[in-house]
Amino acid sequence: MSEKKGIAILGSTGSIGTQALEVLEAYPNYFDLQVITANRNADLLIEQALKHKPNSVVIVDKDSYKKVKDALWSEDIHVYGGEEALSQVVESIEVHTVLTALVGYAGLKPTIAAINAKKEIALANKETLVVAGELITSLAKEKGVNIYPVDSEHSAIFQCIVGEFHNQIEKIYLTASGGPFRGFSQEELLKVSKEQALKHPNWSMGAKITIDSATLMNKGLEVIEAKWLFNLKPEQIDVIVHPQSIVHSIVQFEDGSMKAQMGLPDMKLPIQFALTYPDRFKTDFPRFNFMDYPELTFEQPNREVFKNLDLAFYAMENAGTTACVLNATNEIAVDAFLNDKISFSEISMLNNDVVKAAKIITKPVYEDYVSADYTARQSALKLIQ
Ligand code: NDP
Ligand code: MG
Repeated sequence: MSEKKGIAILGSTGSIGTQALEVLEAYPNYFDLQVITANRNADLLIEQALKHKPNSVVIVDKDSYKKVKDALWSEDIHVYGGEEALSQVVESIEVHTVLTALVGYAGLKPTIAAINAKKEIALANKETLVVAGELITSLAKEKGVNIYPVDSEHSAIFQCIVGEFHNQIEKIYLTASGGPFRGFSQEELLKVSKEQALKHPNWSMGAKITIDSATLMNKGLEVIEAKWLFNLKPEQIDVIVHPQSIVHSIVQFEDGSMKAQMGLPDMKLPIQFALTYPDRFKTDFPRFNFMDYPELTFEQPNREVFKNLDLAFYAMENAGTTACVLNATNEIAVDAFLNDKISFSEISMLNNDVVKAAKIITKPVYEDYVSADYTARQSALKLIQ
């Protein structure tokens, strides 16, 4: 095995994936890119492979396999196709850390495979912990695998507790920008367009998480993600809207002291910290200037208007497969919204209807998550028709 840290990036063609490649490129003596993967974007995957020379690439969409294979035939790069390959490539002995930067439920299986293969996890794919947090965290514990958060809020919490692992967390505050519709009334939300919803004020991200940010589902998913990452009870997690996105989250310890992690919004920093922990590597990222932000403000989220947030707390408290159901219906709802089949306000209505009607399995094993996900998707699709 090489001296460098072998990295697999699942979802290298996405927002997190492309930024992760920039991070790796900046430290060629430290990182060794082993694996990159895409769902359908063969052109970008090929471009990335030719530039970064990984050991293996995976294109999930089997129809695009030949295109990728043909384009890379003269390179010393293994090309695989299909979903199963994602779980196989992470097992390579050369892979030290798997960055899960794919979106949605699709992250669950390869993450389980990576943990089983005792790979460290840099977790961007929050849906995996939402769907099966109990299974993932207990498997990671059993295999002695660390899960390093990439999500900016969770990276912030993690950065605040480094050196404090022996101290109890009393409470955490996850900060939220509030999204493009902060301050909107229920009536105003009825009229918002897809284009408006896709315009996040502070971050440029993939379509799914951008819509989730606008509905506050993203913050709800992050609450559940935080519960599992930091072993917290629901009452220890609070959400505070901070429109400037400078304070990335806050930990309150048992002596009342609060620590916050701050910086300009740039996902490359949490990506990098997850891959270099416990070290911090020097960067040339733009630095924060107080004069550009004379005011940092905080306010309560409007839970009456943005109902997804309370729904996530409900799912967390109801436990079992509830959050898995919520995630599945939300994936269907966001997709339907992006395809002009339902309105923005109908996303949270659909989520609520499916979650409240679902039959919940209390002590789920892997197969229960698979069937809960499937059933919830079917219920959501039926309601949309
Ligand atoms: P993108 O939509 O930009 O990228 C998703 C990546 O996953 C692409 O490489 C895509 O391939 C691949 N992919 C999509 N569907 C599948 C599938 N079914 N099977 C295999 N691969 C698939 O998403 P983001 O980068 O924005 O987000 C990735 C994850 O990181 C999400 O879980 C998100 O919540 C989380 N996250 C993202 C942040 C951000 O700033 N973007 C911030 C914090 C968390 P293709 O290009 O071929 O479609
Ligand atoms: Mg986040």
